[in-house]
Amino acid sequence: MHKHSSVPVDADIECRFCSGPLAGFLDLGMSPLCENFLSKDQLNLMEPFYPLVAYFCRNCCLVQLQEYVPPQQIFSEYAYFSSYSDAWLDHVRRYAETITQRLGLGPASRVIEVGSNDGYLLQFFMGKGIPVLGIDPAANVAAAARARGVPTMVRFFGVEVARELVEEGIQADLVVGNNVLAQVADLNSFVKGLAIILQPRGVCTIEFPHLLKTMLGNQFDQIYHEHFSYFTALAAEKIFAAHGMRIFDIEELWTHGGSLRVYACHVDDETRPVLPSVARLEDSERVAGLHLFATYANFARRVQETKRKLLSFLIEAKSCGKTIAGYGAPGKGNTLLNYCGIRTDFIHYTVDRNPYKHGKYLPGTHIPVFSPERITETKPDYVLILPWNLKNEITTQLSYIRDWGGRFIIPIPEVSII
Ligand SMILES: [Zn+2]
Repeated sequence: MHKHSSVPVDADIECRFCSGPLAGFLDLGMSPLCENFLSKDQLNLMEPFYPLVAYFCRNCCLVQLQEYVPPQQIFSEYAYFSSYSDAWLDHVRRYAETITQRLGLGPASRVIEVGSNDGYLLQFFMGKGIPVLGIDPAANVAAAARARGVPTMVRFFGVEVARELVEEGIQADLVVGNNVLAQVADLNSFVKGLAIILQPRGVCTIEFPHLLKTMLGNQFDQIYHEHFSYFTALAAEKIFAAHGMRIFDIEELWTHGGSLRVYACHVDDETRPVLPSVARLEDSERVAGLHLFATYANFARRVQETKRKLLSFLIEAKSCGKTIAGYGAPGKGNTLLNYCGIRTDFIHYTVDRNPYKHGKYLPGTHIPVFSPERITETKPDYVLILPWNLKNEITTQLSYIRDWGGRFIIPIPEVSII
């Protein structure tokens, strides 16, 4: 074993998909829930921290966390509003265009989105006159969806909700799940529910951050308590197959540092032959060794090295009297900051476009969150971009920091200054 690595102990729980044995490979220490932003009056209260340890299933290869906190506690109020990223909105608008054409959707069809958030996606189908239904457990984001006219059920999706909908005569020609699969505690109930609400000739598209890209890109900050599972095409294939569905196409996307969009249909739908993209993706995962525990142990060593490099840079900058602000307050940023132990001694504050977060404090590190104008007021020497996956959009929006000689710190995949 490498002298710098610390391998966490194996879990005494089973894989949430196949009940196989779990082997720990990455210990990110104790962390609070990454979406638990604090108000000022909470700063002096005790704050719950949970172990952030990633496990590999030795049977089905699904990478996962233990469920330390019940999902009801995490997702009943959610600080993430999908509509606050221009790049993400553009991504889903184009998706709505192409899938509508590919499947020939129209006023007689129905689109159901699970994890519909604030209606950011379904609004585009509504604009085409296609009936929609959103399902999301977070009442606050669902209220934002309804305010823009998107009908939304406030529920955790699974077999129970799926059966209720079918009893009401509701099924979908298209079921969409964007960045929701990772957040599902009862994975089998969720995927079975997708099969139940899908019309016999319907299509289900699911997007998730691609574990291959997470590993290759050293994106350890994609790991946080709200993400219970981390998917490869290989694992997704097994999970869909276990519930009577078949993946017939896969697209690679730029979103969230590199995602997959898998297209699934009922296993007996002969109208949809399996396209070559499926074997190609799965081969690339085998070549990268994603079915082997040793690959994950190597990833953990690289993560630990990245922490040391980022801290070295920040210590040096502070020793030279430089000022550093953050940009963004995404969940992943809180994994990075808590794991590395970066608090207000390094980062004076961060800013976010989402007004819901203004005046709040980051969980664990207690770094205050302001509106983006704060950057022009204080003119920091460096801006650490926490949602590094949107670095092109953000460095363009913030190009004015060059006026006072400001530069950007991109922490992932390796620390770079631009
Ligand atoms: Zn398993």
